Amino acid sequence: MPTAYRGRFAPTPSGPLHAGSLLAAVASYLDARHHAGQWLVRIEDIDPPRCPAGSADTILRQLEAFGLHWDGAVRYQSDRHAAYDEALAKLKATGIAYPCDCSRKQWRDFAVYPGWCRDRDEPPAGEHAWRLDVRAAERFGGAGAIAGWHDRLQGPIQQELAALGDVVLKRRDGLWAYQLAVVVDDAEQGITDVVRGLDLLDNTPWQRLLQASLGLPTPRLTHLPLITADNGQKLSKQNLAPALPVDEVAIRQLLHHTLTLLGQAPPAELATASPAEQLAHATPRWSLANVGAAQSLRMATPFP
Ligand code: GLU
Repeated sequence: MPTAYRGRFAPTPSGPLHAGSLLAAVASYLDARHHAGQWLVRIEDIDPPRCPAGSADTILRQLEAFGLHWDGAVRYQSDRHAAYDEALAKLKATGIAYPCDCSRKQWRDFAVYPGWCRDRDEPPAGEHAWRLDVRAAERFGGAGAIAGWHDRLQGPIQQELAALGDVVLKRRDGLWAYQLAVVVDDAEQGITDVVRGLDLLDNTPWQRLLQASLGLPTPRLTHLPLITADNGQKLSKQNLAPALPVDEVAIRQLLHHTLTLLGQAPPAELATASPAEQLAHATPRWSLANVGAAQSLRMATPFP
C-alpha cells in the first residue's frame, strides 16, 4: 500500500537553492522515501525573465551534493506549453476561465481583482490575461469544501476563496502562471503528496478549484514551516539568504542542522557523516509529528 506514494520537489529556478528551499527538498524527499515512494524533481521554469541561465543545473547539482537523488527524468515546465494550453481550453469551454484586460492600476484600490471582466458581453479586443472565476467553486461542492482541507502538518485549514480573488492563469504577456502549470503537472506525473513551504498555503484553494474543475485528483498536502534568519525574516532569494555551502564538511553540517530543525533529532555524531548515511538514518525514523506545526523555524546564520 505505501508504495503508491509519489512525491516531488518543484523549485522555480530563479536562483540557487538556499537553506529554506533545502529544508523543503529534504522533507519532501524523506516523506517520500519513508513511505517507500518515488521522489520526482520538476523544474518550474515557466517565467524565463525570472530564471537566470544555469540556475536549474545549479539546483540539480546542489540536490546531488546533499544526497537527494530523484527518480526518473527531471521534468521542465518550459517543455509543457501544449499541456497547459489544453487545460486552459477546457476551462474556457466550461466558462471557468475568462479573458481580462484590466491593468493593476485600474483596481489598485482593491485588495484583490474585483472580477469586472467576469460577465462582459464583448471579450477584450487587445492583449489580455486569463483569470480563474472563483465563483466556479459553487459547481464543485461549494467554496467551503474547495477551500477547506486537512493538511497533514497544519491540521484542518479553512480559507476564503472570494478573499483570494480570481487568480491569473495565463498572463497578458503570454506566460503561464504557476497555479495552472503546477496542477496540470502534479496530475500528469501522478503526484499523491505535495510537501512544500507554508508560503504556498494561500495558493492551495485555487489549485484545489482547478483540480476539481479539470476533473483531476487532489493530492494530500503538507505545508512545512518556513525558515527564518536570526533577525526573524523569512529566508528567501529576495532577502539574500546565504548561498548553500559547496565544501563537503559544511554540507554535512548543514544537512545535520536541517534534520535537527525538522525535529528529527539526528545523533550528534552523524554531523560528520556523509549525506547518504545521514539520509539512510533519517528515512526509517522520519516523523511528521516531530516536525510540528510551527509556522517558522529559526536558523542560525551564518550556518553552523
Ligand atoms: N515552484 C514553487 C516554488 O519554487 C513551488 C511549487 C510547489 O511546490 O507547489 O516556490
